[in-house]
Amino acid sequence: MNSAIERVVIVGGGTAGWLAACLLASARRAVKLDVTLIEAPDIPTIGVGEGTWPTMRATLSAIGIAEAEFLSACDGSFKQGSRFDGWVTGAEGDRYLHPFTSPPAAPTAELLAAWRAGAPDLPFAAAMTAQAHVCASDLAPRQRAMPDYQGAANYAYHLDAGKFAALLAMHAVRRLGVRHISDHVVDVVRDDEGGIASVATRQNGDIAGDLFIDCSGHASLLIGEHLGVEWIDRGDVLFNDRALAAQVPVAPGSPIASQTVSTAHAAGWIWDIGLPGRRGIGCVYASRFMDDDTAEATLRAYIARALPDAPDVPARRLSFPTGHRARFWQGNCVAVGLSAGFIEPLEASAIVMIELSLKALIDNFPARRAAMPIHADRFNELFRYRWDRIVEFLKLHYALSRREEPYWLAQRDPAHMPPRLTEMLQLWRDQPPSAWDFPRVDEIFSAESHQYILYGMGYPVPADLPSGEKAAALLAENRQRARALAAALPANRDYLDALAPGAHSAAAR
Ligand SMILES: Cc1cc2nc3c(=O)[nH]c(=O)nc-3n(C[C@H](O)[C@H](O)[C@H](O)COP(=O)(O)OP(=O)(O)OC[C@H]3O[C@@H](n4cnc5c(N)ncnc54)[C@H](O)[C@@H]3O)c2cc1C
Repeated sequence: MNSAIERVVIVGGGTAGWLAACLLASARRAVKLDVTLIEAPDIPTIGVGEGTWPTMRATLSAIGIAEAEFLSACDGSFKQGSRFDGWVTGAEGDRYLHPFTSPPAAPTAELLAAWRAGAPDLPFAAAMTAQAHVCASDLAPRQRAMPDYQGAANYAYHLDAGKFAALLAMHAVRRLGVRHISDHVVDVVRDDEGGIASVATRQNGDIAGDLFIDCSGHASLLIGEHLGVEWIDRGDVLFNDRALAAQVPVAPGSPIASQTVSTAHAAGWIWDIGLPGRRGIGCVYASRFMDDDTAEATLRAYIARALPDAPDVPARRLSFPTGHRARFWQGNCVAVGLSAGFIEPLEASAIVMIELSLKALIDNFPARRAAMPIHADRFNELFRYRWDRIVEFLKLHYALSRREEPYWLAQRDPAHMPPRLTEMLQLWRDQPPSAWDFPRVDEIFSAESHQYILYGMGYPVPADLPSGEKAAALLAENRQRARALAAALPANRDYLDALAPGAHSAAAR
């Protein structure tokens, strides 16, 4: 019980496994750790997951990968937020932006008053941040000369998921000294305390450890299959359970969008993510409301509209459960990534949950086994909170829609609404979302994110607003800043092509 935690064994070599390996190995300066990753050579990773959160900049910096290397190796581009087309009514021109940069630092009620009085016809995001204008012009959030991972606006990345896992694997093994075992985990040897003593592999015998990280994806090999931790289904709130993913080559030199574009359809939505060499386009849908053939036709129609000259490309079918484990840390096993849970990719919350899980683990790394139950309880409470907030935030996008198809009506049925969200929506009629509603450190979706969705979708601003006079000056500064950024920032295409001349047009061929 009192032995030190020195050997970490990670099962799974997808984005979750390799991020865990890199972050744990990088933290070794503070904690003495021996990190091993076991990955089945013939069980593929999920291979999607193209949108990240701004947290990725700190993650890449912490593990020691230079920004230009990351962008070149992963066919990456900049993501400055998400645009939602057709979510409110589905009519022509129905769109709003959820940018990563927050509104100016002023009381939200005053900002709302200034917006209503000074620029009522401007979309909320365009009034609140210059980033909306940067996005509209396909500009990068930074100049090449800026220090790595710093920008003129808050930003994340779009990337090729397969190339990202490969870069992390190379970095972990060659530069950070992670031991990589290519083998199947076939069994688990339990210890006397109900935890895991070792995992049995097909060809490399038993691999013993003090702490096990389950990154085995939907298989959930350790936490689910062997430790039997219950699965909590959230499909009653969020209905989507299938996706069709395509990769469509783009012409060299074509513009690269600054945000993920999510376009609503009759029973779900389509993601559109611009990388230098291709666009990742996928149709997310609820099998209860749309059959596979209709989903495929919906995807093909979108591609034909968005990229009329695109060649015919195959689309990969994916099914996914919606939910999460009841506990994410059980005994000496922590689940990270899809093994812990998955909720549709609407706001790219999966990889950021991986990063936050690893940050919570590393910042509070258990020195000894005896302390693990305390760490486990805290971790489980925090991540249950986070899953609940993600479910509510994603549901907000559906709850405020006025679309009339059966899927959208069902989304708004009170029986499928999380009770806390119903309550908050009532509260937000009288006061805007604030830090009182989202008080934790490292909230994924802050009060500001909720404001962008609420007022982007036309939710009424509270009736009794204070004077917006002071805030009006801040909104005027935004307009000036938008003009300055338009003159100073390069186009995404120019920035990315200059990193690796020729590489992206080769990818497009
Ligand atoms: C349609 C869709 C779109 C998505 N889009 C986004 C997005 O835009 N942004 C975002 O943040 N996330 C997104 N995600 C989620 C994202 O893809 C995952 O969270 C992320 O890739 C992490 O996956 P993983 O590493 O947990 O699992 P996987 O990639 O499935 O990796 C599992 C690993 O476990 C190994 N393994 C399995 N069984 C064994 C065994 N018996 N022995 C040894 N090894 C084993 C496999 O070989 C593999 O290496 C999306 C998901 C879907 C379904």
